Amino acid sequence: MSQERWEAFLNKVAQRLEEICAEADPGFDALIAAEVLDPIPLASAMSEFHARMLSLEKKIDDSWHQLGLEDDALREKGRALRKVIERRSKTLQVKKTAKAARAVKALAEVEMKRFATDTKCTSCGAPLSPTVLHEPSNVTCGHCRAVAVARPGQATLMLFQGSCLHAFGEEAALEADEWLDDAGDDVEAHRRYWRAYARGYGACVPGWTEQKSKELAEAKLGGIKWRLSRG
Ligand SMILES: [Zn+2]
Repeated sequence: MSQERWEAFLNKVAQRLEEICAEADPGFDALIAAEVLDPIPLASAMSEFHARMLSLEKKIDDSWHQLGLEDDALREKGRALRKVIERRSKTLQVKKTAKAARAVKALAEVEMKRFATDTKCTSCGAPLSPTVLHEPSNVTCGHCRAVAVARPGQATLMLFQGSCLHAFGEEAALEADEWLDDAGDDVEAHRRYWRAYARGYGACVPGWTEQKSKELAEAKLGGIKWRLSRG
């Protein structure tokens, strides 16, 4: 009887998982469409989603203890479902965060085009042609020789200095992340993760190279290598 109750309970949790995700998915999309340059609404919706998923996982543990069953195979069913919930939660969060970052990127691309052609010298009004479009840089006016800092627009700064690149990296490494759960101290698995991350991170950064991906990955690996070297 307890076994049936356990299995019925797990089915209910699995169903609840589908309901929460089915509700959250279009909800995130609506926020992304409405608030491209303000990350706060999406972030709070996401932390609420995260909390709901965690409480679903906790329910599994609580019920297991309440039922007091002693059967490893049954316990494993609960653990497997916990893993599914964890993964679904992470995947949806990473994908929607990256989607929001792509919305910023689309705005930034429009901004950078305008920045390249429409920037004017603040002293004499002559057109400036900044060559660096993704971050502030010093530009000398060809007409009056005044030096001014040319600053790209808000979306551009958000794209290259904010959390967008991190979001692209996490999305690119989602698959490698799945294997990371079981990788433990396998440095190669961690390296695969950080290489995938770094390539995603740098994909839209001007001047990014595979060498930079390698360097970023090794820098990120530093902590793991340090931990392993100390046993
Ligand atoms: Zn000038």
